[in-house]
Amino acid sequence: LTGGNDHMDPSEKEIDKALRPLSFSDFTGQDKIVENLKIFVAAARRRGEALDHVLLHGPPGLGKTTLSHIIAAELEAGIKMTSGPVLDKPSDLAGLLTNLEPNDVLFIDEIHRLNPVVEEYLYSAMEDYRIDIMLDSGPNARSVQISLSPFTLIGATTRSGLLTSPLRARFGINARLEYYDSALLTSIVKRSAEILNTPIHDDAAFEIARRSRGTPRIANNLLRRTRDFAQIKGTGTITVDIAQFALNALDVDQNGLDEMDVRILTTIIDKFKGGPVGLSTIATACSEESETIEEVYEPFLIQEGYIKRTSRGREATEAAYRHLGKLMPQHLRG
Ligand code: ADP
Repeated sequence: LTGGNDHMDPSEKEIDKALRPLSFSDFTGQDKIVENLKIFVAAARRRGEALDHVLLHGPPGLGKTTLSHIIAAELEAGIKMTSGPVLDKPSDLAGLLTNLEPNDVLFIDEIHRLNPVVEEYLYSAMEDYRIDIMLDSGPNARSVQISLSPFTLIGATTRSGLLTSPLRARFGINARLEYYDSALLTSIVKRSAEILNTPIHDDAAFEIARRSRGTPRIANNLLRRTRDFAQIKGTGTITVDIAQFALNALDVDQNGLDEMDVRILTTIIDKFKGGPVGLSTIATACSEESETIEEVYEPFLIQEGYIKRTSRGREATEAAYRHLGKLMPQHLRG
């Protein structure tokens, strides 16, 4: 539920596209970021210049890709999409950059995973709109300079801490997306239900929203699965009873923790006496990648107060014990 969109079948992808907000006014939440972006976009347009480069960071599913499309649309500019791991060689990057129209947007997802050689080329592209390409090698090697159209790089990352400082310094606009509260997610769920032509009761929309880990992508996914239950088990309308039934069937617990969240907490508590325990040890015990735990699961568990990050590792909090119906040993209470 928490991953990207790669695993979706074509009809799911279509639905996903239909649910994507297309303009700033369509985009719910992240008010401060959106207000600022509106000003920067308007100013760039008035000057007829490319918008400054934008770095968007935060956990997956909060709207980084969506916002990038919106920025390009509001600039009335084109957008080309790629991702860090896909840009293998400098020529891959050069190919994309030389095909941009003036003031277009280049979106690089997972920008923290750029090959360092490619990243090096990006510096002059971002700073001076030019790249130096090496032709030939050995004694015939020579470099040619290619001028680029002014463009806006939008980088998205779940791990801004992994960005090198020279790259980070080249972004004029830097925005951190936050988890959404239940009220915002309720309006996102209602908007999506309307697009999907699915009647939904207010309390049902809230129930889905509050159990979506603060994440619009998860809220939309849970809404779609709940809609299936409503159509097969009910009358087609999503009531709070149907929502609860569906969410339980999908292993989303009362506080919105999914199976892996619960597994992580249970592991820390049962196998490591509540911690502190290192991330890679948790990952091995849960058969999950450390990276995924750190990018996807842990930020939410920390924000909700189930895990503490200390210098010696991760610790389960009293809230985690309580949520799992376990008693915290006396000596661990602080
Ligand atoms: P990210 O790039 O941060 O992983 P996406 O931009 O792909 O996240 O968003 C995931 C899905 O969640 C999108 O398909 C979109 O429909 C929905 N979404 C994200 N943010 C919002 C929002 N603020 N309002 C409504 N829907 C949103």
